[in-house]
Order: sequence, then C-alpha cells, then structure tokens
Amino acid sequence: MSPAPRCIECGTERVSVEIEWATPHYQINTYECPACKSMLRLVEPRPADPTYH
Ligand SMILES: [Zn+2]
Repeated sequence: MSPAPRCIECGTERVSVEIEWATPHYQINTYECPACKSMLRLVEPRPADPTYH
C-alpha cells in the first residue's frame, strides 16, 4: 500500500475513497481529506495483484 498524500490545506492524511482503472497499467485513485473534504485525484501505477489470474 502506498501512503496516502497529505491534504495541502490542513495537513491531514487523505483517505482513498475510490479507485478507477484507467488503463491496464494505471489507475485513478481518488482521495478525500476527512477534515475539509477536499478531493484529490491521482494517476498511479496499478499494483500487481497476485490473486488475479
Ligand atoms: Zn484538509
């Protein structure tokens, strides 16, 4: 698990609320700040899933 980025506004650690698969190799991870509810979407490389064959 990659660490959640901190909110720029208040420094609270963001919570991942949604992950969309953009391509076979990348995902769009949506993070929300639990304090001020600001949203952040990050494109991340998809982690390898050893249980999915
Ligand atoms: Zn915040």
